[in-house]
Amino acid sequence: MINKSLTFCSALLVCCLVSLTTSAQTAVQIKPGRDPNVAIDEEYTKKIREYTTESFFNSPLTDYLPASSKVPTPKVVLGDVAGAPGILPYSSEVYRYMRMLEHESPRVKVYSIGKTEEGREMIAVAVSSEANIAKIEENRARLQKLADPRSINLNDDEAEKIIADTVPVYYITGTIHSPETGAPTALMELAYRLAVDESPYIKQIRDNLITLITPVVEVDGRDRQVDIYKWHLANPGKNWPNLIYWGKYVAHDNNRDAMSLSLQLTRNVLNTFTGWKAQVLHDLHESVPYLYDNTVGDQPYNAWIDPILADEWHLIGWYNVGEMTKFGMPGVFTHGNFDTWSPSYLMFIAASHNGISRLYETFGNGGADTLERTLSPSEYSRTWYKQNPPLPVAKWSQRNNNNYEQTGLLISLAHFSTNSKYFLRNFYTKSKNSILKPKTSGPAAYVFPGDDPRPGGQAELLRLLQTQGCEVHRATADFTVTVPAKKRPARPAPAETRASGDGDGGAGSAGNGGQERRETITRSFPAGSYIVRMDQPYSRIADMMLDLQYWAPNDPQRNIYDDTAWTFGELGDVQVVRVMDVKALDAPMEKVSGEVKAAGGVLGEGSVFLVNHNADNALVTLRYRFKDAQFEAAEEPFEAAGTKFNRGSFVIRGVKANDLNRAAADLGLKIYATGNTPSVKMHSIKAARVAIMHTWLTAQDEGWWRLEFDRYKVPYNYINVQDVAKDGNLNAKYDVIIFPPVGRSNPQQVVSGMPMFGNPLPWRKTELTPNLGGTDETDDMRPGLGWSGVQNLQKFAQRGGLLITASDTANFASAFGFAPGVSIASPQRLRVTGSVLRSRIVDAASPVAYGYNDRLAIFCANGPIFNLSNTVGGRGGRRFSAEGPERFTGRGGPDDPDTPQNRPPAELPEEPKSEVWEATPLSDEQLRNGVFVIPPSARPRVILRYADSRELLVSGLLESGNEIAQHAAVIDVPYEQGHVLLFSNNPFWRAETQGSYFLVFNAILNFDQLNAGRKLAEK
Ligand SMILES: [Zn+2]
Repeated sequence: MINKSLTFCSALLVCCLVSLTTSAQTAVQIKPGRDPNVAIDEEYTKKIREYTTESFFNSPLTDYLPASSKVPTPKVVLGDVAGAPGILPYSSEVYRYMRMLEHESPRVKVYSIGKTEEGREMIAVAVSSEANIAKIEENRARLQKLADPRSINLNDDEAEKIIADTVPVYYITGTIHSPETGAPTALMELAYRLAVDESPYIKQIRDNLITLITPVVEVDGRDRQVDIYKWHLANPGKNWPNLIYWGKYVAHDNNRDAMSLSLQLTRNVLNTFTGWKAQVLHDLHESVPYLYDNTVGDQPYNAWIDPILADEWHLIGWYNVGEMTKFGMPGVFTHGNFDTWSPSYLMFIAASHNGISRLYETFGNGGADTLERTLSPSEYSRTWYKQNPPLPVAKWSQRNNNNYEQTGLLISLAHFSTNSKYFLRNFYTKSKNSILKPKTSGPAAYVFPGDDPRPGGQAELLRLLQTQGCEVHRATADFTVTVPAKKRPARPAPAETRASGDGDGGAGSAGNGGQERRETITRSFPAGSYIVRMDQPYSRIADMMLDLQYWAPNDPQRNIYDDTAWTFGELGDVQVVRVMDVKALDAPMEKVSGEVKAAGGVLGEGSVFLVNHNADNALVTLRYRFKDAQFEAAEEPFEAAGTKFNRGSFVIRGVKANDLNRAAADLGLKIYATGNTPSVKMHSIKAARVAIMHTWLTAQDEGWWRLEFDRYKVPYNYINVQDVAKDGNLNAKYDVIIFPPVGRSNPQQVVSGMPMFGNPLPWRKTELTPNLGGTDETDDMRPGLGWSGVQNLQKFAQRGGLLITASDTANFASAFGFAPGVSIASPQRLRVTGSVLRSRIVDAASPVAYGYNDRLAIFCANGPIFNLSNTVGGRGGRRFSAEGPERFTGRGGPDDPDTPQNRPPAELPEEPKSEVWEATPLSDEQLRNGVFVIPPSARPRVILRYADSRELLVSGLLESGNEIAQHAAVIDVPYEQGHVLLFSNNPFWRAETQGSYFLVFNAILNFDQLNAGRKLAEK
């Protein structure tokens, strides 16, 4: 069914395509390929042909290299041609070549666009005609007007005049994924071709657009990958180490940062894209044979893109396939099962900023070896969208890869340059549509209320939007708008008869008894509220990030490629109100100049300082900034200095008011000075010594934890499982050990590590591998935690340490006896594919919950589903929310007792009752000789649970949510003198979950006081 409708769809597109090409202003057919009058570099050309394994793996565009008397070919740096076997250049070599091009050709200009986390440079190389390069700033100024049509009063005639004089910018980015190695050499050669070739085909490109190239996006990872490849060449016949670290923090996920902008590479590419006002961002990857142009992709498409973009995707993608098909190159296709829902990919910087996002997957060998590659039937079979599929078996070389990449790109550049006015007009129209958004689709604005209890988190999210290029305004007076009334559930969900007294969501339902559903209510916002207006050029990215997402459980797309939700307000625990009412735009307001910052400083006089705990992440920075000062936490809410303070609020002594004032201003924290200590129960909170532990299997997901610990300046030691295996006294060094998710579902793998069959796999800085190490090192990546490591971790907790685990490492903790009384249920039909779910606070007195209001949104990817028991090894009882009465077959109705005949009815003992997130109370039967009974003080303490089914889903996909609804989400397990903390959610995910960070920070600061406020069961 799906295929049928898509075939229809593509047939339609062929029509569009024909009309476009015939109506295009340069309808003259320029034959792709070499101009016989242009001299070629014979030697280089010979090598291209030699390294290409089959003639059909090349094209008329890349089977020759034009000669130049002045401009050097890539050979000058590589020692051979681009894509030659055995040659992978470091980033510095790629840059050296690009700068030689710049030096020798007036058609090339190299720009430094920023540094990586490890201080390596990133560049962008512009290639165009001399005339275009000479007037590059004038062109940029014109593009700026098209990018922000407010500057020309949305005047289409004026836009047409600008378009007539302007050339577009096509931005190509290579090697964001470090084991995908072909792009740098392909892009070196592409830049050369564009600079020197006088063939009409290339000249047309050069004259009508600016090609902008970042040859290496993940520069740190590229240099490490080249090290690994050199190690491989120096150690023939041996297995080589897996590239565990790409960038400093994350590996493959560096391509999931386009919303959070937490990595330097993302910010540098974003700034380049928006700074140049580019029209396309075309990102190069390697995986499937031989060229998958992801431009068309598959459903569902992101719901916030301009529909014009969807049409551009189809137009460009199918054209690209068509042209390469004509060249006879096998394995080129554009439709595939990669959905285009999540906007977190690097290419989406374009889609969310009025440009065009594109992505190629070409075929690579993970290095520059030439190999015979055998494909699977799913790869080589002919399908409706892959009429000339890849070969089942073929010799494949890096040169083949470079031919495909360059051929695809040259066709794209030619197509774009031939139709440059058409695409510029689209660019202008999309920018204009973004500005017209309040009047067309809405919303009119997103409002961030001025009385949000978490101004720090609010400022942080607004700063992120500013970094995305959005303008932020601030209301100078109160204002009122109409908003939809909060919907009440039409009827109580049948499975929720045991809901624990949830309210009706209060906020908007102005107390009419819920008799009639009102459609709208008015809502007032105080002066100081922030307004993100949707009548601005980059309204689209703000709408994408702040809106809710819904993925239907019955969506035909069954291979969901990534997260289904990312709602930043919810995950950041920041209040964000979507306002359709265009009156919001008339509120008195001024544009915020400079970065949004929460107000901070010390108020009042005195030597005792009080800081309200509102789970603002800056609080942990404050604690560590004054690590020698005396900090205490109030165990109950209190009032002082005319202000209300939440449970967990800081009471600080031994700090100079001036120092604290500086820190408070810097961190956006309000601190109250007072003469006397409040009379509330307090305990000391220490600047705990923290370690973050990683395995050598992968260091992908834990990188997101390190990144944020660094950002909030929480110091930690970075240790690995092999260190822990050897260290019998971890308590001497650490108070808290964090074991972030590993991404391995079988916890046994953490213990066993990699198989020991082959040779050792070193990860270490050596002369041969100067870019390895740095983050961590080992002589052999294979050994895991081992049984000694398990014991050492247990001893650590038993002696008073805190072990923090989340998602799969919570599974590890449960499997290896770190969490008596906690078991994990297997999901049956549950699907939570990177979704945002609602939680409820169960135990607000736990220090882990300090500063939090109820109903925190948390990020969940299929659990785990925790069950609790008061006995060791107990699995917990009925663990679905009530599904009708539990009785045996007999007389009467569902709630009636059965009646044995010929004797008086017996009085039935009361069945023990418990909530889903609780353990079933012990019966006297269990307590008799209770060998496995856990004493009350050692029982797991549930801090957060998942909300009831009917309010569980905030954003994304949730199917059979009743399997996880009401189950415990965050559990503190006492472990002799110490504690083990288990998260079902992942509190640190892709720099999107700022709202849940403080659950972890609270645990760290209170690591030796986690029993505070605990109420114990009687038996
Ligand atoms: Zn990739």
